[in-house]
Amino acid sequence: MNNIKIKIEALRTELREHNHNYYVLDNPIISDYDFDIKLKELQALEEAHPEFHDATSPTLRVGGEVTKNFNTVVHNQRMYSLDNSYSLEDLQDWETRVKKMVDGDISYTCELKYDGASISLTYENGNLLRAVTRGDGFQGDEVTANIKTIKSVPLQLKGNYPPKFDIRGEIVLPFDGFIKMNEERIANDEEPYKNPRNTASGSLKLQDSAEVAKRPLECLLYNLTGENLGVQNQFESLERARQMGFKVPNEAKLCLSIDDVFQFINHWDKARHNLPYETDGVVVKVNNLYQQDELGYTAKAPRWAMAYKFKAEQVSTKLNEITYQVGRTGAITPVANLEPVALAGTIVKRASLHNADQIEKLDIRINDDVFVEKGGEIIPKIIAVDLSKRPLNSQPTQYITACPECQTVLERLEGEAKHFCPNYNGCNPQVIGRIQHYISRKAMDIEGLGGETVALLVNENLITNYADLYTLTKEQVLPLERMAEKSAENLVNGIEASKQIPFDRVLFGIGIRFVGETVAKKLAKHYKSIDALASASIENLEKVDEIGIRIAESVVAFFASEENRETIQRLKAYGLQLEISAEKLANQTNTLEGKSFVVSGVFTQVSRTELKKLIEDNGGKNVSSISSKTDFVVAGDKMGPSKKEKAEKLNVPLISEVQFLEMLQ
Ligand code: AMP
Ligand code: ZN
Repeated sequence: MNNIKIKIEALRTELREHNHNYYVLDNPIISDYDFDIKLKELQALEEAHPEFHDATSPTLRVGGEVTKNFNTVVHNQRMYSLDNSYSLEDLQDWETRVKKMVDGDISYTCELKYDGASISLTYENGNLLRAVTRGDGFQGDEVTANIKTIKSVPLQLKGNYPPKFDIRGEIVLPFDGFIKMNEERIANDEEPYKNPRNTASGSLKLQDSAEVAKRPLECLLYNLTGENLGVQNQFESLERARQMGFKVPNEAKLCLSIDDVFQFINHWDKARHNLPYETDGVVVKVNNLYQQDELGYTAKAPRWAMAYKFKAEQVSTKLNEITYQVGRTGAITPVANLEPVALAGTIVKRASLHNADQIEKLDIRINDDVFVEKGGEIIPKIIAVDLSKRPLNSQPTQYITACPECQTVLERLEGEAKHFCPNYNGCNPQVIGRIQHYISRKAMDIEGLGGETVALLVNENLITNYADLYTLTKEQVLPLERMAEKSAENLVNGIEASKQIPFDRVLFGIGIRFVGETVAKKLAKHYKSIDALASASIENLEKVDEIGIRIAESVVAFFASEENRETIQRLKAYGLQLEISAEKLANQTNTLEGKSFVVSGVFTQVSRTELKKLIEDNGGKNVSSISSKTDFVVAGDKMGPSKKEKAEKLNVPLISEVQFLEMLQ
């Protein structure tokens, strides 16, 4: 065999193993750095040798495939729902029914009921063939491109495996990843996601798999289906699935009696709060597969399984005070300050009240006893007021009318739930928050300057907006708390270096409402300079791909402000990048606007990477696999025969490298 091929195969095998150690076993044996080096090496080899393409390569986890319409696929076997029970008596009744229907001893596999989105994976000859959502149980949507980006889903199996089978499980979003995603959304002034479950299931239907790849999703598996699986019972099948490389939760337990089942439930009712992801119950399954067959199914669920739902934990406590927070955009959030109380494994002191409507709806008042619940949401929720305990002299809550920070009269725009403080330039949390956003990692990423220092600088009256950063001197910052010669120097140097940050990130950094990272990129690409953007009308903005009225209005409002325009002029004078650099611009056109390309094979005049960049720079889109929506396949030498066949079948034109370059003329 060819040496290169051997090398590529060896790297793939090694990286698969590391992925398995890291994502399935939570037990990495090499550093992230070493992993990256090896992955890059493999990427380079694959790039130079597309003839050795393999759809299960670890390099293909980053996504990029865009699905416009998800195909409907009929499940090989129906995906049933589960019957629910809410008490141990219910479960006892279920056991009695089961015992009447089957002979012999009955043991149970108890598993946790993971709260995410169910998924069915089909494997053929050890390779992931497709992934399908539950849908209506009979048929679901094919979401393979998205599922492939989840690192704990093996693209190729280990050891020996049945030639063809399905495995079912749940796509979940662990709490810490969910919290991180929300922190970013809040920093980008976007509405935070409600709970991990909805976010996980929403992720499966994103069109751009690269977006899915960025989300820290996991796939927990619990059910093998198919023929000749070589297992006699559920508990064994879990172990079998682990051996093939699947992530099967270790909490599952074999219980020999219903009393053992109760013990399992009682244990996890509390212990589940220490798990990294959400669970909402226990699933009890008759262990023996032969007995399962005998029991069969009702119209909607197996008779051999029963879900026990945990009660959402609820406590009552006293509302001491309502305080109001001012965000960086001036939005006001009321916060309930509670008498500290233990709930679902943590001490709860505060709960969000969202907005004035919510307070009115609950009719919540100071000194009320309130019921607090931790359900799917991470932030505890106030469910209701215990009216029986309301003090006699209690008064309805008056929502504040002035900003708690600067006393400016609050406004509430039509159709918006939140009040906000209009004192854009004089309200401290807004001023500080805006500069903190400007220096943040995804915006200007200023080294040597942190959020706390920003607050200090503002409070010492050294700066009032982000343009002021560029006039700061070492002498000015040295007297600040915890500043030394070296750190003052770093700070000033960091600020200076930010003058090289490209335009799209500056645009994100200046903090126009609703202009997050992605929107900033789009606007930068379309308008190319801040001047062009500043003079765009609402109508003009709305014509840009994916820019809606809300963003358009916000951009226009931003530049309508004299103060903002002045700040931008100052940034320009200091030498910040307020347009796409000439070099980048010279290479960009809209020639390929709206066209999608698949690049395949080896090229002579430009490399594959350069070719793909040319497509992007000229307004086209790169997709990784051929579909009827592909406009062109740029075919190089040694293009794979299956791709060629597919292109011909779908009538997608094949063009050569030369023809492609001619298109750009
Ligand atoms: P329900 O949606 O209430 O009908 O419950 C059935 C769903 O529970 C299934 O479709 C799965 O997505 C989910 N589930 C979570 N964990 C498990 C588990 N360990 N065994 C079976 N189903 C589970
Ligand atoms: Zn204010």
